[in-house]
Amino acid sequence: MNAETLLNKLKDLSHTFEQEEQNLTQLDRAIGDGDHGVNMLRGFKAVDEKVTGDTVSDVLKSTGMTLMSSVGGASGPLYGFSFVKMAGLDYDEITSDNLLEYINTFKDAVAARGKVTGGEKTMYDVLLKASDHLSNGESLSEDVLQQFAEDTKDLEATKGRAAYFKKDSIGHIDPGAQSMVYVLKALSEDV
Ligand code: ADP
Ligand code: MG
Repeated sequence: MNAETLLNKLKDLSHTFEQEEQNLTQLDRAIGDGDHGVNMLRGFKAVDEKVTGDTVSDVLKSTGMTLMSSVGGASGPLYGFSFVKMAGLDYDEITSDNLLEYINTFKDAVAARGKVTGGEKTMYDVLLKASDHLSNGESLSEDVLQQFAEDTKDLEATKGRAAYFKKDSIGHIDPGAQSMVYVLKALSEDV
């Protein structure tokens, strides 16, 4: 995936988040404050309007800066910082050979910024499973990514607003895990 394709994919996420806004809002209403759909839509509308770049790194950096400044909530800095970190990798294209490096950089950035580890019912769980899956030589499909988000249902939240719900958070998909499905799909489907 070259810079132009990546730019188009990231801009296209504004349509995905338009379609999924209600779904993400419902998920965040159950175990949060109900703003995740609005946050992601605002962020990727801004990406659609503002992001530019002639190289993969420039596109990722511009996306990260845009997300940081436009998404409210905990998820904005987590997504924004991670895209800026991925921009630090110096490849002309995202390919099946370096995709794992991008996903691992994304994962490590969320871990560092969110002080989070696996099993805490966050977006990080999808990144961790995606990384393991790729490490095992398997490819990421939308179904596989969706399953990783579904897997957060059984977990009890210990990070972010959902942690206030304690055991009541069990039985619900984490909203950030669900939004991560769409973001990882955009990054990985055309490599
Ligand atoms: P807020 O929680 O501030 O309302 P959002 O609703 O936009 O922000 O985002 C909530 C999502 O952010 C959660 O579903 C979770 O996946 C993610 N999240 C929150 N805190 C953390 C954290 N410390 N580490 C990783 N992810 C987190
Ligand atoms: Mg929220």
